[in-house]
Amino acid sequence: MGRLEGRVALVTGAASGIGRATAMRLAAEGAAVVVTDVQEEPGRAVAEQIRGQGARAVYLRHDVADEASWQTVVGEASAEFGRLDVLVNNAGIGDLATIEDTSRDDWERTIAVDQTGVFLGMKTAAAALKASGHGSIINISSIFGASGGFGTSPAYHAAKGAVRILTKNAALHWATEGVRVNSVHPGFIDTPMLEAAKGTEFESGMIALTPMGRLGRPEEVAACVAFLAGDDASFITGSELYVDGGYLAR
Ligand code: NAD
Repeated sequence: MGRLEGRVALVTGAASGIGRATAMRLAAEGAAVVVTDVQEEPGRAVAEQIRGQGARAVYLRHDVADEASWQTVVGEASAEFGRLDVLVNNAGIGDLATIEDTSRDDWERTIAVDQTGVFLGMKTAAAALKASGHGSIINISSIFGASGGFGTSPAYHAAKGAVRILTKNAALHWATEGVRVNSVHPGFIDTPMLEAAKGTEFESGMIALTPMGRLGRPEEVAACVAFLAGDDASFITGSELYVDGGYLAR
């Protein structure tokens, strides 16, 4: 019997990369999975693939920056599966612009998705997660939520840093209410988000900066999310888990 048998998990940004690997892993551990993403076709394909492996899954179109969209998906998830136990706030966008090259609109869009999206998700799902008795929220931050990185992407760093502290704040708020909240901080992971860097100096730079000498795989992040999602992590809240091949150990 899987560690997440009988649980229901909602994973945002689950059409691609880390979110997709996480949805697949949670399903393999026994959870029913609500796959949400702005990208409809690949989102539906992930849910279909999970169902093809004999687990329960549904795809819902979802923009994490939109509060009404959150109310719809949390309502539909509960209606479809009768409960909600795990929320993985994974959806994210990033760019490589400098401060000077970041327009106010760019700044606000990245903050809306990467930071406000996490706040809205926790707020909207709170009642259902408290009712679960096994509520677990995993917020996907980044190594760039705890360091200045390459000195680029200011909105991304600001948002990921905010997610790190927001996670601890929410963990304290719900500590006695059966909802744990933790953040996972991937290093350089081989997903479509890094597509633009493929074969460039930026990619070799990322590998050179990673003590283990390679990019991470989405499945390696998903395994950590699955651990935090279930009762093996029952005394862990407000913590931050780095999945970065040693990047921040320097
Ligand atoms: P990805 O681009 O492969 O996947 C991100 C997914 O989020 C996409 O499917 C996209 O459609 C979805 N998305 C974007 N905006 C959305 C919105 N407004 N509402 C709903 N869905 C939306 O990227 P990934 O590498 O798998 O990234 C997943 C998470 O991991 C992100 O939060 C990212 O910041 C974080 N992260 C990634 C890396 C890395 O090296 N790949 C490193 C650190 C942190």
